[in-house]
Amino acid sequence: MGKELTGWPVITEEEHAAVRGVLDGGLFTSNDAGRGEVSALQRDWAAYTGTRYCAAVSNGTAALELALAALDLEPGSEVLVPALTFIGTAIPVVQRLLVPVFVDVDPVTFTMDPQAAAAAVTERTRAIIVVHLHGLPADMTALRALADSRGLKLIEDAAQAQGAEYQGRRAGSIGDVNATSLNVVKNLPTCGEGGLITTDDEELYERIVLRRQFGEDLRAGKDRDYISRVLAGNEKLSAVQAAFTRRQLARLDEYHALRAKNVESFLDRIGRLPGLLAPQVPADRTHAWHILRLRFSAAGLGHPEVCDGALRAVLQRALKAEGVPVAPYQVVPLPGQRAFRELSGFGGYPWRIEGAARPRHDIHEFPVSLAVIEDSLTIQRIHLNPAAGPVLDRCAEAFEKVWDRIEDLLPLARAMEYRPPWHAAVNTPEESA
Ligand SMILES: *Cc1c(COP(=O)(O)O)cnc(C)c1O
Repeated sequence: MGKELTGWPVITEEEHAAVRGVLDGGLFTSNDAGRGEVSALQRDWAAYTGTRYCAAVSNGTAALELALAALDLEPGSEVLVPALTFIGTAIPVVQRLLVPVFVDVDPVTFTMDPQAAAAAVTERTRAIIVVHLHGLPADMTALRALADSRGLKLIEDAAQAQGAEYQGRRAGSIGDVNATSLNVVKNLPTCGEGGLITTDDEELYERIVLRRQFGEDLRAGKDRDYISRVLAGNEKLSAVQAAFTRRQLARLDEYHALRAKNVESFLDRIGRLPGLLAPQVPADRTHAWHILRLRFSAAGLGHPEVCDGALRAVLQRALKAEGVPVAPYQVVPLPGQRAFRELSGFGGYPWRIEGAARPRHDIHEFPVSLAVIEDSLTIQRIHLNPAAGPVLDRCAEAFEKVWDRIEDLLPLARAMEYRPPWHAAVNTPEESA
């Protein structure tokens, strides 16, 4: 399928000129006294999201880590994290010596289930990280109500949802402090790695910028004094990255509109196929369409005796054979990831802190995440390019062709020796020994 239609990111003469401008201008880091591309990107993203402050950092994981650092939570405190997300949501929690407590997701939106979240709150819970998975904002009204009633801070992980709206507000502007990623695969990319943090709280913002660079106060107009006011690392963004993203941000809404049109007509078409559940968008929000997740139901095909996972597995083979790049996104709920079961990496901390919550590794405590992983497939990247409409049309044809022959596929699903997607992840040598 044509690279010019599916290539991502879209790089125009504007990006080339912007990067050359950095090389010629000599302001290479975020210490640009407000005059360089990093400062300009911070202003642009704050304006776009409608927030007061923005700090640019080295990547989305660092953005979450600094957002947590700014909240200054006691080590061993608990932070709610969805069980179905990228591990980059949960690692920053561990980096801050906080305990991630996993929460199951909603079967339709794939985002944190507010009721399951409420049930997971304990005396030690201090914050919730909400992930707008695949680009659809989570139920922020319910999660905000929960946070306020229990005195918790709300953090958005908007890495997949740049430009999406929830009740008229932009993703990445609704929590107390919010993070997003500029990784080249995201909807708002840079030519490499980057991240952005937003908040309306001046004190949180000051703590973030101190911690972005060795605890030093480098606010515009001051000479560097080499005094570290707090123990902190180095998580700055480079000006080349900022320059590239600024041009992408200027085109984000235009690209979103074209992508939404392509994706919606694709989903309209395949959503008519029996047994296929296309993503749903509640009326109070918009979807950034970062990833398309399709669920499959054997009962919906009139064959409830067939296992949904086996149906998904044969469809995966058939669709790939027809050139549709379907793939899993996450093969196990996060608590089942080997690193979380073995607690390796930080010498057993934060779980060794006295009174810290015991980890919940049993993936069967997250039945919705398991079902979604088992019976769904995703389409990633190929639809991001605003010119990908024709490619999606061809994908829709391939779906229709496979569905025309679905009666031939069902016996294969019945006969196959089926293993769930998490089989390899949870059957590590340590466990079978
Ligand atoms: C990409 C991503 C991250 C991490 O961002 P990086 O820039 O890759 O560090 C975190 N959370 C989610 C949901 C992501 O998709």
